[in-house]
Amino acid sequence: AFRVCDDRIVAAYGDAAALEELCRRSDAVTYEFENVPGDILIPLCKKYNIPQGYKPLYDSQDRLREKDNARANGLRTPLYAAVDDEASLRAALAEIGFPAALKTRTLGYDGHGQLVLKDEADVPRALPMLSVPCILEAFVPFDFEASIVMVSDGERVIHFPIGRNVHRDGILDLCFVPAEGMDDGLRSRMAAAGERFMKSCRYRGILAIEFFIRDGEFYFNEMAPRPHNSGHYTIEGCTTNQFRELVRFLLGEPLQEPRLVAPTVMKNILGQDLEAAERVAAENRPGVHVHLYGKTESRPKRKMGHITFVGMDAGEYGAAWADRFVK
Ligand code: AMP
Repeated sequence: AFRVCDDRIVAAYGDAAALEELCRRSDAVTYEFENVPGDILIPLCKKYNIPQGYKPLYDSQDRLREKDNARANGLRTPLYAAVDDEASLRAALAEIGFPAALKTRTLGYDGHGQLVLKDEADVPRALPMLSVPCILEAFVPFDFEASIVMVSDGERVIHFPIGRNVHRDGILDLCFVPAEGMDDGLRSRMAAAGERFMKSCRYRGILAIEFFIRDGEFYFNEMAPRPHNSGHYTIEGCTTNQFRELVRFLLGEPLQEPRLVAPTVMKNILGQDLEAAERVAAENRPGVHVHLYGKTESRPKRKMGHITFVGMDAGEYGAAWADRFVK
């Protein structure tokens, strides 16, 4: 971001004075990840222009609060329970059963801070995680995962076409739009539930929700009040994109309903695929858009960029492209 911004402040996420200085210097403030504690924003929201408010950030920062909030506002979740020590872990396992996913309540992302418990023998391995508050969730043997990105101006909610997501090691790997395997009925039920949820929570701005799909039903997994990795395909794949609609909301301009330009595939580029992505970029093919983020250090499993293939479906990607990246 330093390459394109005209001002910078470097400080800890929870540094209230630095956040206030950021607000003072900005016409409008938004957030693009979940590590700034939402409650610090409460007094700032009264004094500065933070059009999304603090609530979507605050609600998404703790997996327990996030799931309680999803249920309270009409979304179905997998079974879950708060876990703080061995006794509460055993009680939760008795209720939820194996397999189950144990996750830290805060600061987890991309599969960090998660452990799948397959059976009793895995329990001792879970105990060290309990030094911080955790949540135990039923492991969902989903058919696939899907996500929706929405933007609300407080009255109207627009949403981007729903994608099917493929994760590897807990990290988004591929996104296929439209989500084949999802019939129109399921697609519109999911979109309607997402829009109802946003209205019921009175959220404004952008929100992405990730769902597990199983037997024609969808289950809330998590949400993010920011442009989402699964929405990066919208830059070229849609008539308007998630970043632009967020900015239009922040500036008080009317939102535009997006349309899919053509079937689109998004492939995330992690450190191990950076060289392959650079070769793809050099080929300069029509419909193949390579985005490299310019991060100074490349590591395996670190998101270094993404490639968007416009006019391609999952079958074509599998046949012509999948082999070019690390398996
Ligand atoms: P999360 O950070 O909660 O989105 O987890 C990252 C990925 O791990 C998800 O996108 C799923 O692929 C997998 N995962 C997490 N929780 C569960 C669960 N309860 N059941 C099945 N898979 C899960």
